[in-house]
Amino acid sequence: MEFEIEKVLPNGLGRVGTIKTAHGEIKTPAFMAVGTRGYVRFISPQELHMLGAQAMLSNGYHLRRQAPEIAKAGGLANISAAFWAGAEATAEHAAREARNDGPERRVAQEAAGYLPGSESWQGPTLTDSGGFQVMSLGSGLGKVVSMEKERHVTNTAHKERLAHVSEDGVSFIDPFDGQPDFIGPEESMQIQCQIGADIHMAFDELTSLADTYEYNIEAMARTERWAERSLREHIKHRDDLGYRQNLYGVLQGGRWEDLRRQTAQTLGKMNVDGIEFDGFGLGGAFLKEDLGEILRWCNEELPMNKPRHLLGLSHPDDILIGAEMGADTFDCVAPMREARHGKIYTREGNINLRKYSDAGEPLDHDCDCATCKAGWTRGSLRALWRSGDIEKKAKYYNLASIHNLRFIVRLTEEIRVAMLEGCFDAYKHDFLTKYYTNADLC
Ligand SMILES: [Zn+2]
Repeated sequence: MEFEIEKVLPNGLGRVGTIKTAHGEIKTPAFMAVGTRGYVRFISPQELHMLGAQAMLSNGYHLRRQAPEIAKAGGLANISAAFWAGAEATAEHAAREARNDGPERRVAQEAAGYLPGSESWQGPTLTDSGGFQVMSLGSGLGKVVSMEKERHVTNTAHKERLAHVSEDGVSFIDPFDGQPDFIGPEESMQIQCQIGADIHMAFDELTSLADTYEYNIEAMARTERWAERSLREHIKHRDDLGYRQNLYGVLQGGRWEDLRRQTAQTLGKMNVDGIEFDGFGLGGAFLKEDLGEILRWCNEELPMNKPRHLLGLSHPDDILIGAEMGADTFDCVAPMREARHGKIYTREGNINLRKYSDAGEPLDHDCDCATCKAGWTRGSLRALWRSGDIEKKAKYYNLASIHNLRFIVRLTEEIRVAMLEGCFDAYKHDFLTKYYTNADLC
């Protein structure tokens, strides 16, 4: 995998670049659409391309049972049409899908006007290791909280969680069927290499904001040992599907500068028989107030010439500070999940459709998405959302998801242009001033 850097900010960290994978290029900074189970809910592949999404992130944990079938098909790029169509690779997959979306997804597909099975995601893909999913089973912890909320965060004792960490990996109870299961670095690499995304994440242990410094030292050391095991196993399988699959090492270390710098140095130099990581995942649960500093510590130590993915964040201020501090790609399920709950992103702050029953005004006065271009207003979209009619509701999920995802994708496109034109600071100030003036509308 190649990573070309076109321009670097005066702070020496933020940059504009191009990641070149076997399935296409990603112009960075870039926001990836989340298709946890191999497809993006309520948006077709064609619509994803039209709204500017350059890559899709799926999850090794959620796709682990289908991984052998995906490998037989030649990788995720060859089978995503089937996932989009709801084709059932296994009876268990069918049951999971039924629980996941119900009939609404099928209706949404028809409402969106595409034929099941006719389209697949042709662009680059990335998979997460599944570490975050198994580690957070039962813990209820998010990725980012504000100072205000931190007081309410309590760490669930490991014995009370559904997941138990050992040197080998993580044993857990599958919340779907109640059966015991296990994922360690080797299993995660085997699963991800069968799924065949272009970029994989090493298996890591996510700590929570409530974990102590001492526990973070222990977990970080374990994550580093797991990183080396991940790299060793990945090398065995990375060419199995006939194209190069790449591996990112994942940094933990909580909110402590010494730990973050130390692990960045360790992972930045780590190699197995001379083979190093292709890039790096910036992991962990962050206090919003600390995010920029933590990224600066990590990225000042990591090799400049390799791409970095900031895992699981999408608020505009997080994306802006992330890009400024040297993160190249981003992903988060929030834009689409929040759309389904009536939260619509606008340049003047987010709005909740609950409050716009008869409003004829646009969703956002400055949006170029297909939903806005088709003339949907706050009132007309709200009517679909609040309708008891399943077809109307599915149409709402489609239209609102497109709008919110386009909003974040466009933000990264504009950051790229601002960096190239040398006006990033002014762009950031202007965007945040407008966006957060009315940010409490929701
Ligand atoms: Zn729009």
